[in-house]
Amino acid sequence: TTSPLADAAASAPHGLETRPSAAPRPAEPTPLADARVQLAEAVELLGYTDGLHQMLATPRRELSVAVPLRMDNGESRLYLGYRVQHNFSRGPAKGGLRYAPNVNLDEVRALAMWMTWKCALLDVPYGGAKGGVAIDPRQHSMAELERVTRRYTSEILPIIGPERDIPAPDIGTDEQTMAWMMDTYSVNSGYTVPGIVTGKPIALGGSLGRASATSRGVTHIALAALRHAGFEPARSTAAVQGFGKVGADAARFLAEAGVRVTAVSDQYGAVLNTGGLDIEALTDHVRETGSVVGFPGADALDGADLLTQDVDLLVPAAVEGVLHEGNAADVLAKVIVEGANGPTTPTADRILRERGVLVVPDILANAGGVIVSYFEWVQANQAYWWRADEVESRLEERMLNAWRHVLGYAEARDLSLRTAATALAVERVAEAHRLRGLYP
Ligand code: GLU
Repeated sequence: TTSPLADAAASAPHGLETRPSAAPRPAEPTPLADARVQLAEAVELLGYTDGLHQMLATPRRELSVAVPLRMDNGESRLYLGYRVQHNFSRGPAKGGLRYAPNVNLDEVRALAMWMTWKCALLDVPYGGAKGGVAIDPRQHSMAELERVTRRYTSEILPIIGPERDIPAPDIGTDEQTMAWMMDTYSVNSGYTVPGIVTGKPIALGGSLGRASATSRGVTHIALAALRHAGFEPARSTAAVQGFGKVGADAARFLAEAGVRVTAVSDQYGAVLNTGGLDIEALTDHVRETGSVVGFPGADALDGADLLTQDVDLLVPAAVEGVLHEGNAADVLAKVIVEGANGPTTPTADRILRERGVLVVPDILANAGGVIVSYFEWVQANQAYWWRADEVESRLEERMLNAWRHVLGYAEARDLSLRTAATALAVERVAEAHRLRGLYP
């Protein structure tokens, strides 16, 4: 006779693993698997022990929360949320909050790990964290988004704080989301705590230049990388995947620097104009219609074909895993600058390197956002605000210093820029850990 539990397993209810455990499931490329491969390469280069490797590969603290939402029509729904603090050996944990339907714990773990390396590489005194709620923000009213944000914030309240973990915007969240988080935290504290989040509205203690900081940083790096690869920016062409917080301003700044941006995409489709897109007109079109699709100044293009356009520079500025085994060999760009987190899988990285494509990794290329987040936190803690040109020149200096540092390290050791950047970052985290010692 079998137990009810065994019966239940044998009848293979939806979602249960029925394969015998002896036949291993082929490794699925997930952002977490990608992040761990990248870490393993750096650890091998640095010659670290298994014990240290395991510590670096595993989040220090993770919290899963249920986020019930009362809808405007009175019904209630439940969403799942997460906050993962990957490491805080170098300072408070830091990282964005993502609202997207497919958010899951493993993705948040990967994004948190990348934040640790990003902050260490740019020498921003933070560890790495990330948050997420598995919700599609476009399906909700502002009032519903406010309630979800306040409830999520109060659920993660015990582990965040200006000296513990400082959230910021990411995909699907913005300065309004940060204002609600700041208010929720402050009301619960009994006084206003501007340093609890970054990416706030200017009127609440946000920093000038924060909203466009990631795109500005991407552009500084793209121009430096193009020149390094032998291209004069004013005679170069570019394609940008994603027209959101990072891609739209990156396209604009690249065009302002003289780069001909010929193709741009969003989640609904892509547009192409080999003579160069009018980014300002395209931005107006997106403001009116919600998408780049149907832009009168360009031809329609299949979204997937954006990545294989005949351009000098490709800027993936959307989501993880878009450059993979199946399309890396078809990429025609000679320089890739990662505006998104994790857009290139390790297999694609290998293919691109063999083909001589210069890939500037996310933890360097898109670090402008967290750099100005750091500036915002410093300004808020001192209650003293900087001018826009001060923010921008300090951002540029940090980005270009890091670029030169990574490039020099990579060239001296014949490494990819990703392995060089990851190794430099991992070394800083491991050094902090070593100096602090293992407690108890
Ligand atoms: N979400 C952004 C990133 O992935 C910014 C994080 C922050 O400013 O804390 O880098």
